[in-house]
Amino acid sequence: MRYDVQAIEKKWQAYWEKHPQALAAEPNSRKKFYCLDMFPYPSGAGLHIGHWRSYVLSDIYTRVKWLEGYNILHPMGYDAFGLPAENAAIKEGIHPRVSTERNIANFRRQLHEVGALFDWSKEINTTDPDYYKWTQWIFIQMFKAGLAYEANLPINWCPSCLTGLANEEVVNGGCERCGTQVEQKNIRQWALKITSYADKLLEGLDRLDWSDKVKTMQKNWIGKSEGARITFSALDRAGNKVELPIFTTRPDTIFGVSYVAIAPDHELVDRLVTAERRDAVTEYCTQARVEAERQLEIQKDAPRGANLRSVEEKEKTGVFTGTYVTNPANHEKVPLYVADYVLKDYGTGIVMAVPAHDERDFAFAVRYDLPRLKVVLGGEGGVDSNGNLSQPYTGTGLLVNSGAFDGLDAQTTGKAAIIDALAKKGLAEPVTTYKLRDWIFSRQRYWGEPIPLIHCAQCGIVPVPDNQLPVTLPDVERYEPTGTGESPLAGIPDWVNTTCPTCGGAAKRETNTMPQWAGSCWYFLRYPNPHLKESAWSKEDMAYWLPVDLYVGGIEHAILHLLYARFYVKVLFDLGHIPFDEPFTRLYNQGMVLKYSEKSGLVEKMSKSKGNVVNPDDITKEYGSDILRMYIMFMGPPDLDCEWQNSGLDGIKRFTNRFWDCMTAENRIATRDADLAVQKRVHKFVRDFTTRMDSFKPNTAIASMMELLNDLIASNAVLSRDLAEMIIAPFSIFAPHMASELAEVVLKSELSACTWPTYDPALAADDEVTYAIQINGKTRGTLVARKGAAQDDVVPEANTIVAKWLASGTIIKVVFVQDRMVNFVIKPV
Ligand SMILES: [Zn+2]
Ligand SMILES: [Zn+2]
Repeated sequence: MRYDVQAIEKKWQAYWEKHPQALAAEPNSRKKFYCLDMFPYPSGAGLHIGHWRSYVLSDIYTRVKWLEGYNILHPMGYDAFGLPAENAAIKEGIHPRVSTERNIANFRRQLHEVGALFDWSKEINTTDPDYYKWTQWIFIQMFKAGLAYEANLPINWCPSCLTGLANEEVVNGGCERCGTQVEQKNIRQWALKITSYADKLLEGLDRLDWSDKVKTMQKNWIGKSEGARITFSALDRAGNKVELPIFTTRPDTIFGVSYVAIAPDHELVDRLVTAERRDAVTEYCTQARVEAERQLEIQKDAPRGANLRSVEEKEKTGVFTGTYVTNPANHEKVPLYVADYVLKDYGTGIVMAVPAHDERDFAFAVRYDLPRLKVVLGGEGGVDSNGNLSQPYTGTGLLVNSGAFDGLDAQTTGKAAIIDALAKKGLAEPVTTYKLRDWIFSRQRYWGEPIPLIHCAQCGIVPVPDNQLPVTLPDVERYEPTGTGESPLAGIPDWVNTTCPTCGGAAKRETNTMPQWAGSCWYFLRYPNPHLKESAWSKEDMAYWLPVDLYVGGIEHAILHLLYARFYVKVLFDLGHIPFDEPFTRLYNQGMVLKYSEKSGLVEKMSKSKGNVVNPDDITKEYGSDILRMYIMFMGPPDLDCEWQNSGLDGIKRFTNRFWDCMTAENRIATRDADLAVQKRVHKFVRDFTTRMDSFKPNTAIASMMELLNDLIASNAVLSRDLAEMIIAPFSIFAPHMASELAEVVLKSELSACTWPTYDPALAADDEVTYAIQINGKTRGTLVARKGAAQDDVVPEANTIVAKWLASGTIIKVVFVQDRMVNFVIKPV
């Protein structure tokens, strides 16, 4: 019986539409599994292959939990506000709602073809007023809590198109539409105080099962640095005392300060230069200004992403002012330099320099022959006869040459004690700085959620009352932003003019809309019950379904989306609306799918311009969904970028066809118990398969299925019905269509009635042997392999285990003793 991919996949997709599987049940005593995908923006281009990689990955884990009997929530939806729909509206005059609906219909069709266990009764669309009513409600909660505020903040402004531009619309510093140089223009905007959550956002990361990479990206984005503001002093030209505040993150090294540097354009420079040094300093400052302008020009002209290393690696220079500065810690006098590497707007525009413990200061000290006194123990550098360190050490250790603080740990107790001692004299205060800035939360755009506020001359800014939500988007004639930098909504007097909910007087609506992020900051809270009318979510659902157990999506969202969503959840937790303060317990970021491009000759990210895009519709038409699903999981570890190759699809096609033929072969299934050898083989397979899935290596789980198939065919194994189910259930997570057909044909049952297999450790384990891996007779490692495995199966793996020793020579002979040992005889290079 030949397997007819197209007919059988169509049959099951139609069946699943009529008989949905894995629908979420009401909160109950069963264990739950909430698996979330980063929902797509429904672009006109449809699903791309990267979407498939993500959705299949989340689906295979959902399917395991489903067959294990969990209550499953695996929803799908659309993040549908945004620029592309609005730009299409401006260009083609199609209402964004119309193009969005059309694109969603196409996405929905394509998503059905993925064959995933999506619960379509939970579908969300962020542009649906029944949804954004609650996006607006959440904003009002933030506004009432003092977390949303108005400010004059800069936007990208095209002086030719007279419009504000999103960052994505600024290309090489120019307007995407007309090429004019983009300017910054201050306009009235709304911002959210995400900065007041900086510490909470940092602290929560430690409790999450996320990759270190993403945690580090979030930490760096928040950019917390703890240091101190310390006051140095000097006498100006007239002999008056001048205070020089500096900011440093290393107050522990203050006894190693050998000079102080000030920015060339700092307002104190003029007062602090001695008469003798005036000409030299003026000349230096003039040059620094010219150079700064030149660098700015280079950066403006350079294409985005160009190598600007020349700017960064410019040699650090300075000029002595003739003035000496007093170090408040030891009262030593050190020279004051004007140096262009110090930026006026960063910190206080004055820095203390510790050459022994800072690379930049070290280079400067060598150039100008300044002391490099070591004050922290550690590092490789030696000390010369003058006490100068031979190379900088930026790590931590015990303090030395630091007076009363010697012996304290530099970065902990030492730092605290030094700040404390100076603070008592009023010469220092601890300062914590963050890179994180407040979140500009308004757009001067049409296609977004209107910000639900009303401006009243009497009452000020008044939130729209709950019973008047949602504030719906009115229809407009033109989608272009107005020439004033205001949203197109500002041009609709009928909509703008309203009455104040507090005093009933004439008032005006806020015309800014929310950024595209707004809808995706909380959609996972709405999924358990997207049709709830009286509130955004129910208490029972939050207690049962949340937090999300597994969140799958691209690394491009590692910072902003995840940070914003965490911020929302923390605010809602603090305001008492939800019982948890982190939304996503486990996060998995899948890698990209790359493909060879004829145009560039490189394997790279798929893009239209490179002509290397694979359209999933073409693949499902030719191979079917199962083969695409399985190939996209087989191409490599899911967290890494992988190269797409059509030959890989053919390999999977051969495998699935052989699998079908094997399982449907006559006399494959007997009513008696299977032979012990066959039982062992299947239990061992289940053990390998589950271990590999548990360690997030579905590609190797598929490999274990391929090995099993070879052995079943080679031994012409006869299975019992139970053993067949133990094979078909794991197969189903990758190829649900074929597995459903096999369940019907072979098991005379339904896939939903299959249980997830467990293995008997006694049956799975006993045919394993441990190999000693030797190099020239010396054991360097061990390897567990199947008893009786062939040399070709064992040696390559042994090779990788002792690779670092093999690298020191060339292999001249391999001695293989089956079930016992591999010995590599090597000749040193
Ligand atoms: Zn323009
Ligand atoms: Zn009023």
